[in-house]
Amino acid sequence: MIDSQEMVKKVFTQNSARIDTNKGDAYYNSLFEKAKSRLSALRKQPALKDIDLMEVVESEGVNRRDFMKWASATTATLMLPPMFTPLVAEATELMNRVPVVWIELQDCAGNSEAILRSATPTVDDLLFDVLSLEYHHTLQAASGHQAEHQLEDAIHTFKGKYLLFVEGAIPKAMNGQYGTIGPGGETFEENLNRLSKDAAAVVAVGTCATFGGIPAAAPNPTGAVGVMDIVKGKPIVNIPACPANPANMVGVVLHYVLTGQVPELDSLLRPKFAFGYRIHDNCERRAHFDAGEYVEEWGDEGAKNNWCLYKMGCKGPMTFNNCSIIRYNEGANWPIGVGRGCIGCSEPDFWDKYAYERPMADANIKAPTGGVEKTVDEFGLGLLTATSIGIGVHAVASAVAGKRTVHSEDEE
Ligand code: SF4
Ligand code: SF4
Repeated sequence: MIDSQEMVKKVFTQNSARIDTNKGDAYYNSLFEKAKSRLSALRKQPALKDIDLMEVVESEGVNRRDFMKWASATTATLMLPPMFTPLVAEATELMNRVPVVWIELQDCAGNSEAILRSATPTVDDLLFDVLSLEYHHTLQAASGHQAEHQLEDAIHTFKGKYLLFVEGAIPKAMNGQYGTIGPGGETFEENLNRLSKDAAAVVAVGTCATFGGIPAAAPNPTGAVGVMDIVKGKPIVNIPACPANPANMVGVVLHYVLTGQVPELDSLLRPKFAFGYRIHDNCERRAHFDAGEYVEEWGDEGAKNNWCLYKMGCKGPMTFNNCSIIRYNEGANWPIGVGRGCIGCSEPDFWDKYAYERPMADANIKAPTGGVEKTVDEFGLGLLTATSIGIGVHAVASAVAGKRTVHSEDEE
């Protein structure tokens, strides 16, 4: 019980993850001009990969109109106003100007698999055909010394310009001997330090690379840690989840192509456009939570009626991620949509702290002073100061708070 409270304190007393969705005309106008000049400069650079995006997209039966619809949705996902849609479309076509080096360390390759889905590929999936992946541990054809040569060539040619994507945790125990790469027996840590030195930015993909993930679960025999525990002095973007959603990977690259910068991040270095809200804030079962209607046992009437999964251990109220909005597999579905609670896979220590099938001990999820759109700090404070108020009481408080929020928005 104490352990879970300490974890809650650790996670929810960070700075707010909430994104400011309206930064004002002056901000967006200035960003628009900056993006226009950036794209114009990029267009003058040679394509690193001779693949035309529209040809790839059309070969999969997606026409220009569908593509623009995707660009419009992606613009919204990046929390940019609609005026950016043509620029996002243009940036997408210029993604082959930005070199990416992708390394895989201590993990299950789930994030690489996530970008390889091909049954009904989405535009997000197709973009990985266009992206200039100069090196990818798992997907490339080269092996041995040939692969080593390819990697050296990429980091030398694109010194200071490449994005280094890292999948997997880094084992530190036994001087890193749990994971080595290449004929020279370089440890994962040495490899990461060397390759990140000349990267423009490092993107940690998936929960193993961001927070250590499952390799770091107790008792963590390999001493696994995430990228931000190793790499210093570089912009780092964390895209946690198990696996990370390809749409969020594309979003980070697009933002970089568009602006030359990494997106706005929260205190855990996650892009706010993707991790600015809790699962719970946009969950399709939220009305049942507010009404006090919960699944009590697998297969009961509540389960058949798609009621809230909180009592079955759903950690949506504590988890920041946009899967309740963008879902998976072209928006087809997501865990809660198929009747399984969120296990908080995009939060630190999720395997030890969240992934069990009952609600957090003492975590009486309440919005203490109004509204469901609490910041992380406010929400954490509420969680820590919650006494013995039960879920039923919360449902009433939340419904009242929700009305209060609507009321105050109306007043504005
Ligand atoms: S507790 Fe889980 S299932 Fe229930 S509304 Fe929140 S996120 Fe959805
Ligand atoms: S619903 Fe929760 S556990 Fe599932 S992918 Fe999203 S954050 Fe991870």
